[in-house]
Amino acid sequence: MSRPRIVIVGAGFAGYRTARTLSRLTRHKAEITLLNPTDYFLYLPLLPQVAAGVLEPRRVTVSLSATLPRVRLVLGEADGIDLDGRTVRYTDPEGGVGTLPYDRLVIAVGSVNKLLPIPGVAEHAHGFRGLPEALYLRDHVTRQMELAGGAKDSAARCTFVVVGAGYTGTEVAAHGQMYTDAQARRRPPRDGVRPRWLLLDVAPRVLPEMDERLSRTADRVLRERGVDVRMGTSVKEATHDGVLLTDGEFVETRTLVWCVGVRPDPLVEGVGQPLERGRLIVDPYLQVPGRPEVFACGDAAAVPDLNDPGSFTPMTAQHAWRHGQIAARNVAASLGIGDRRAYRHRDLGFVVDLGGAKAAANPLGVPLPGPLAGLVTRGYHLAAMPGNRVRVAADWLLDSVLPRQAVQLGLVRSWSVPLDTASPELARVPGRPERGPDVSARGQVRDRPAEEPAKSAASEGPTGIGGTAEPAKGQPGGEPAKNQPGGEPARNQPGGEPAANPGPAGAPGPDPDTAPGPVKRPEDRPATPAEGDS
Ligand SMILES: Cc1cc2nc3c(=O)[nH]c(=O)nc-3n(C[C@H](O)[C@H](O)[C@H](O)COP(=O)(O)OP(=O)(O)OC[C@H]3O[C@@H](n4cnc5c(N)ncnc54)[C@H](O)[C@@H]3O)c2cc1C
Repeated sequence: MSRPRIVIVGAGFAGYRTARTLSRLTRHKAEITLLNPTDYFLYLPLLPQVAAGVLEPRRVTVSLSATLPRVRLVLGEADGIDLDGRTVRYTDPEGGVGTLPYDRLVIAVGSVNKLLPIPGVAEHAHGFRGLPEALYLRDHVTRQMELAGGAKDSAARCTFVVVGAGYTGTEVAAHGQMYTDAQARRRPPRDGVRPRWLLLDVAPRVLPEMDERLSRTADRVLRERGVDVRMGTSVKEATHDGVLLTDGEFVETRTLVWCVGVRPDPLVEGVGQPLERGRLIVDPYLQVPGRPEVFACGDAAAVPDLNDPGSFTPMTAQHAWRHGQIAARNVAASLGIGDRRAYRHRDLGFVVDLGGAKAAANPLGVPLPGPLAGLVTRGYHLAAMPGNRVRVAADWLLDSVLPRQAVQLGLVRSWSVPLDTASPELARVPGRPERGPDVSARGQVRDRPAEEPAKSAASEGPTGIGGTAEPAKGQPGGEPAKNQPGGEPARNQPGGEPAANPGPAGAPGPDPDTAPGPVKRPEDRPATPAEGDS
């Protein structure tokens, strides 16, 4: 008898844990396939440390094939799910397309940067949701500090604006200020300009979603470090020269980091099932109602919060990781292995790394003071990482005794990490079409034999999925990006309504001559896609 086929789409916190738990529970009784665009699991909470040069990028990754030996890895991005035909269509990293038939499906595609219809933001800001963006920021910040030495616009180059004071923005600003201060100490800008990081949010306090004691700690550490914390303020317009704030001030800068939150991956929109603010609605067993063979978990799923009836669990790694375990258990139960269980959780508290020995942490709800918080935060991350712990600890040790390496490799260019992307985990490359809801929304798989391996998209002819003939989102001639598919309006941000099409708000569309991405700063714009940003 053939083994049931389980396909898991996405290998983040939820998908990775589902695959790992399922391979233990099913013990070769099922064929488990994991579809993911990269060959690694990314430990996102340590990404700010990559941007600040504390950790080398590979440290925050965990090899999928090395740690999931009984799981078949398929490299690629799902761009359509046919629920009736029980197949997932995907495009591989070289543009080939294929389909995966399934008996059980787990959708765990996570989330992408959230956009707001603020003029100039889609063109001038960068998000912080994937490794390419972290590498870009590290290089860009390093380069601004180097270019500031003696340049007329050194004040603008030494000013870094972060929008969104949730855990991501707070950590980026806290680590960023430390990083640039260290650079300035070693090589002070000639006119004595000090690097300045601004952290903006229209919320009244930093870490607005968290315990107030964590907010107070983070606020104090940021201010002591010199970060210009401006709550109740956001960006009204972004331009090449800087940002106009909602209080009327114009801040000259070359750096705008967009951390206002995330929205579910646009793939779920195309599944054609009921959504809650863009997330796929599931029952407490993580099953899609009316589709008992389909499960969803992590940021992409609206999972009922049984501790708070009527609400859904928030989009955090903690939940996604634990969803993954329950999804695996319930998939196995649906195949006759073990019993199913509803998702219930206990709040484990939160940790926010503020750089050096500083952190704001309340494990199990107990707020910790000073250096103990720093110790617990790092210990928590080491324990939570599913691999690569020794290398991470080694980098932390080296960082505590050696000056940080302030060199920019320039491998990730501004245009290759546009804010508006359905694939923040991949740097955009010239010529490769990007996955978008225009493709997935159809949710139909073209006639092709089941389990057909990926083949070249070019051979698909003029209507080839993922091929060059069909305009892809964000590509010249492509359909304008449909942002915020039912996306949750950013809480506490101006204009926090789902954007119908914020990309071109107040600005022209991508320049067909040059633009693999929508960035249009004159000096950023590459003469050819291979050259690039300032
Ligand atoms: C900088 C940063 C710091 C954070 N810090 C914390 C923290 O300290 N604590 C906390 O609880 N949460 C934190 N979060 C939030 C947390 O990382 C997310 O809630 C969590 O990653 C969600 O898990 P997931 O599995 O749903 O999605 P992800 O971890 O994002 O994984 C989704 C996976 O699906 C893949 N994928 C996407 N689209 C497709 C497709 N079409 N086909 C195939 N695969 C696809 C992606 O490549 C990825 O591997 C942080 C987030 C960021 C960005």
